[in-house]
Amino acid sequence: MTARRILLADADAFYVAVARLADPQGAGKARLLIVGGSAERRGVVMSASYEARAYGVRSAMPMARALRLCRDALVVPVPWETCAHKSREIGAVLRRFTPVVEQASSDEFYLDLSGTEQLYGGEPLAVTARRMREDVRNETALSLSIGGGTSKLIAKLAAGVAKPVPGCSADGVHVVPPGAEADFMLQFALADIPFVGPKFQERLSRFGLRTVRDVVRHDRDALVRWLGEREGTWLYDRARGIDRAPVHAVREAKSVSRDETFATDLDDDAALAARLLSLADRASADVRDAGLLARTVTVKLRDADFTTRQASRTLRSAVESDRVVYAVARELLARLRAARRMPARLLGVALSQFVSAGGDGQLFLLESSSPDATLETERDRIISRMIDEVREKFGPDALSRGAAR
Ligand SMILES: [Mg+2]
Repeated sequence: MTARRILLADADAFYVAVARLADPQGAGKARLLIVGGSAERRGVVMSASYEARAYGVRSAMPMARALRLCRDALVVPVPWETCAHKSREIGAVLRRFTPVVEQASSDEFYLDLSGTEQLYGGEPLAVTARRMREDVRNETALSLSIGGGTSKLIAKLAAGVAKPVPGCSADGVHVVPPGAEADFMLQFALADIPFVGPKFQERLSRFGLRTVRDVVRHDRDALVRWLGEREGTWLYDRARGIDRAPVHAVREAKSVSRDETFATDLDDDAALAARLLSLADRASADVRDAGLLARTVTVKLRDADFTTRQASRTLRSAVESDRVVYAVARELLARLRAARRMPARLLGVALSQFVSAGGDGQLFLLESSSPDATLETERDRIISRMIDEVREKFGPDALSRGAAR
């Protein structure tokens, strides 16, 4: 089997770069620039320029604290529509190089170029990556860092190495050749590996495992003894740069659902609405994770006497934001409760009839606020995705979704 050729393309300081292009309040020229904050009433930093980061300003930091650290910074709101537009522009340029593009976040794209060797006349992957970078820069005025290798794991870590930082010589592209994965991995801490979150790190540190070097000293059996079969094997592979996950252009799924069986039956409408909000929130996050949009929202209700009922609504355009999914789900729950009023044992939200996000023919509504609460705007989507990203990086409590409504 020939080695896979996978790239991760990641826009550099995406929100700051886009804010500079959109240029509100002269952001284009501001060295100390912070994007985020009070304009969205969430009061956190979404992104800061390299110069502001030098003062200790970080993403997800409360804005008040950021401004104490860097009092001369210009704060501008996130230019949501421009971000969405730029994100699609980058995706479109990348799809010219291969159809197998998986959008991992608003500014991160995995590409699988396996099998394109002939098409590119045997061009080394790093050379293709440099052309890609140049095209994106020419056509979107944004700069990418691109990492490459035989897996998504290697490509992701290589993109971090490629990232140009002031005073460092990285030129924006770093490709790890086939066979060099294990050596490449030795420079990383376990915390650098995707999905090794704070809780896992703490467990690992109890066995003296903090870096990849710590892990490769042990055989698979020892890791399995400490961490269990699944996680022990997973870590053994990752530490050697092994990751077989494919790049998914669109994930196959028929429906995504979340439900909850209550410890005691619930009859209070406000309590049911609160559970519905959390279920809608999780189901829509699953859909966004899969890079999909859903057209049909279904609410399932099981009454105390075990009668199970459901109500669905199919929308004219597909949605993915928790705000709209919740708005539709509330209508459906109200309809079910009006038809039969009895304490509930179980409540569920399902999303189905998927289309792929950003796919051709998808209707994007660009108005910044929509009069119909069940019409999803581009802004809803971007806000939802950004909250996913911040939560992934900083934990589930970093931002409250409710506050974004
Ligand atoms: Mg980025």
